[in-house]
Amino acid sequence: KEKTEDGILRDEVFFGKNGKSILQRLRLDGKAAYVTGGGQGIGRAMAHALGEAGAKVAVVDIVKEKAESVVSELTVKGIQSVAVTADISKPEDVQRMIETIASKWGTIHIACNNAGINMNSDSEDTSLEEWDQTFNINLRGTFLCCQAAGRIMLKQGYGKIINTASMASLIVPHPQNQLAYNTSKAGVVKLTQTLGTEWISRGVRVNCLSPGIVDTPLIRSESLKPLVQCWLTDIPAGRLAQVTDLQAAVVYLASEASDYMTGHNLVIEGGQSLW
Ligand code: NAD
Repeated sequence: KEKTEDGILRDEVFFGKNGKSILQRLRLDGKAAYVTGGGQGIGRAMAHALGEAGAKVAVVDIVKEKAESVVSELTVKGIQSVAVTADISKPEDVQRMIETIASKWGTIHIACNNAGINMNSDSEDTSLEEWDQTFNINLRGTFLCCQAAGRIMLKQGYGKIINTASMASLIVPHPQNQLAYNTSKAGVVKLTQTLGTEWISRGVRVNCLSPGIVDTPLIRSESLKPLVQCWLTDIPAGRLAQVTDLQAAVVYLASEASDYMTGHNLVIEGGQSLW
């Protein structure tokens, strides 16, 4: 730190950390990323955001055509990308997905474990099948991806993992009939906190993003429509979130600008969890 004769402190704040301005520290040039559930909705928006910030992006989805369609969009924008088909609830799929991406780009720096499903039924009627399916994708799938990507990241001493949880991990949106969903997302937060504190000393940050109610195909099912109408009245922002409302947060969590953040649950919900 140097205070010069003109009285101006020329330190990292003045010159930028490692000589980089804050906007430069948000760039992801040269980074290899993947987004699960990248074929539509929030994941598609994440893939675009990471690519616009400079990363190469593997778009992973259980539906091949969806992943390929987003890759076509990214290609038009000059973003390097690849489509990978995988069911993240299956260990063999996750292993193949990680190996495919790592062999294409040499490594993985950014893992967005975003794929998830939402079913709703009254708690007393929640079937074991619904419970298992929700947990297999939302929690087991997120764990499998964290572990497989984490192994590569720990070896290289660097990585950013961003899990998509939900505001429902914190509050119980009412009227509620999403027992399995809410519980699985609370599990994603605890998974994130545990890995985030365990791995940061080895260079791997693990955080999660908890959106409020986002206007995507996920919430457009007939059964959810009446619930969405009720939830709308609970949002101080007066509207549903759009996927674009989440894009800057993903870039921030993926970038070196958030290096001191780990195990965090970043909630973006238009104030809904406060009402
Ligand atoms: P979406 O249904 O619009 O998209 C999910 C994508 O994931 C789809 O392309 C689907 O094909 C894919 N997918 C589903 N199961 C998969 C599997 N087993 N393996 C790989 N891909 C799979 O959903 P969305 O609204 O974009 O939600 C994305 C994430 O955000 C989910 O984890 C969801 O729980 C979470 N979330 C959504 C909202 C919301 O209101 N939309 C709110 C909070 C959290």
